[in-house]
Amino acid sequence: RSLVVAVDGPSGSGKSSVSKEVARRLGLAFLDTGAMYRSVAWHCLNGRINLANAAAVEAAARTINMEQTMVPDAELFKVNGINVTDAIREPKISEAVSAVATNLGARAELVRRQRELIDAHGRRIVVEGRDITTVVAPDAEARLILTASEEARLRRRGLQLGGTQTAEQLAEQVLARDAKDSTVVEFHQAADGVYTVDSSDLDFAQTVDAVIAV
Ligand code: C5P
Repeated sequence: RSLVVAVDGPSGSGKSSVSKEVARRLGLAFLDTGAMYRSVAWHCLNGRINLANAAAVEAAARTINMEQTMVPDAELFKVNGINVTDAIREPKISEAVSAVATNLGARAELVRRQRELIDAHGRRIVVEGRDITTVVAPDAEARLILTASEEARLRRRGLQLGGTQTAEQLAEQVLARDAKDSTVVEFHQAADGVYTVDSSDLDFAQTVDAVIAV
């Protein structure tokens, strides 16, 4: 029977690692929708497509071939056959990605593809992003928003990046991206029937348990 788990949240909320562990524990597929926005941004930078050209960005979203393994333990992302698994995590992609996220034509296409992938996996899947509870899968059996205080999010991002950046650089990156993201209306609005899990004072295992409980 169908079990779609929709998880939204800001960067540094632990959304990605928590969602993967939930997928493992429940034996579900895993869809990282942020990686799709990153993949389009990567393609544009790589192909010298002007990110300020909305029509060109939308066309890229419509035409590129995107693959992801969709299992939490063997993450691999490809764009037109090229392995972009590491490249899409680079800071220059994080900086460029809001041009894709704020492009409504590109969003419509990515949402369409995401719904197709959910169906292709028999609707037994954890889907992680920013607009999953509200737009991509409002009919999901479980809908959650994973939040964490600004302080906790910055601390985790710092750990993730290996401590190579100053606190100011981190704050600038994480908060600037969230501010840009929140200009797209659907983000972070807790719709009816959506549970909020605040992980500020929870460790990883406790956060996973809280999500599984929902
Ligand atoms: O989650 P991640 O940091 O990889 O997402 C990268 C970017 O993709 C976000 O900052 C946001 O701009 C965009 N995004 C989005 N909608 C989603 C997932 C990600 O707009 N469902």
